[in-house]
Amino acid sequence: MLNTTETQIIDWLASQKQPMIDLLRDVVNIDSGSFDKEGVDAVGARFEQHFAEYGIETWREPHDVYGDAVHGLITKPGSNEKPVLLMGHRDTVFPKGEVAKRPFTIKGNLAHGPGVADMKAGVVINVFVAAALKKFDAAPCPIKLLITGDEEIASRSSRPIIEREGRAARAVYNSEPGRPTGNITTGRKGGVFMRFEVFGKAAHSGNNFSVGISAIGELAHKIVQIHALTDMDKGITLNVGLVSGGQSVNTTAPHAEGEIDFRYIDPADRATIMGAIEKIIATSTVPGTTAKLHINGEFLPLVQDAAAKAMFEAYQAAAVDSGLTTLTGEFAGGCADSGFTASVGTPTLCGLGPVGGNVHTDLEWLDIESIVPRAQTLARAILRTEI
Ligand SMILES: [Zn+2]
Repeated sequence: MLNTTETQIIDWLASQKQPMIDLLRDVVNIDSGSFDKEGVDAVGARFEQHFAEYGIETWREPHDVYGDAVHGLITKPGSNEKPVLLMGHRDTVFPKGEVAKRPFTIKGNLAHGPGVADMKAGVVINVFVAAALKKFDAAPCPIKLLITGDEEIASRSSRPIIEREGRAARAVYNSEPGRPTGNITTGRKGGVFMRFEVFGKAAHSGNNFSVGISAIGELAHKIVQIHALTDMDKGITLNVGLVSGGQSVNTTAPHAEGEIDFRYIDPADRATIMGAIEKIIATSTVPGTTAKLHINGEFLPLVQDAAAKAMFEAYQAAAVDSGLTTLTGEFAGGCADSGFTASVGTPTLCGLGPVGGNVHTDLEWLDIESIVPRAQTLARAILRTEI
């Protein structure tokens, strides 16, 4: 019985390649940068329309500033089992007007367009797998879908929703793009994104030099000390990627600031490095300067525990049955929402979307031949969920 249903679902997904590409074209051709609430919500509305076409319950959790969280649910009558959560984000890193410059196109086996791989194609396979489970009444347990709108800015509004839904779920499948190698992502770094400000005192650097206090001088000391916390063997990196400051070339700088990208693998390293950064910010080398640290955003690391390892092995078996015989797990330095669900203790896999690369650039590509096998693998993995 189950095998018959599985075959029906696999065959149906194979027949849906063109409808999946059509939905992908629709959503790629709507600008949806993280700060463009109107665009992000328009993409959400297109996915809601898809849910409605398949009779999947859907609702929004509204937000004033960022895109609303879009939810989908396939209930399993009589079941109080914990749901499986299919997760994805629909915002991109691209500004309004990007679609007009380079709309969705297909050349050979590759699709292009803003967010085509990261991660509109992943959300498309999530919603088609959900459609298949609904159509064939095959969900082994409740299936929840969550489509958020601000992942590219560290999920400022979505993090509590992701943690709440992640905590309630038995397993989380996050369809960020598959690795260019065709593999999925079983580990990710955590990241803390910060801004630090240094305050000095302005004075004419010719007439009044000794009265001035240079915030830029202090900023330089702090940058060197922050970069020195990098420990490549432990996977700890610190990058001050943006700096600004000063008033004019003949004024001692009253103000300067920098932005820090801090990444790590071991959750224990976060506290150690944050403590060291706070000490650097609080201690001045240039007498008379003061400084402040602000955390702009944060992702937690995706760590593979025993339950996530078992989940990976089941997914890998489903991949082999879907023709993806060499698929394995990879570690990625990039951060994602999967770190939040893994950190609340729910087994999580990431990078399950169709295969793509050059994300966050105008050379972003998606292998359209990977759409169907990735959808089939996800469907098989869910159908074989042990209740
Ligand atoms: Zn992404």
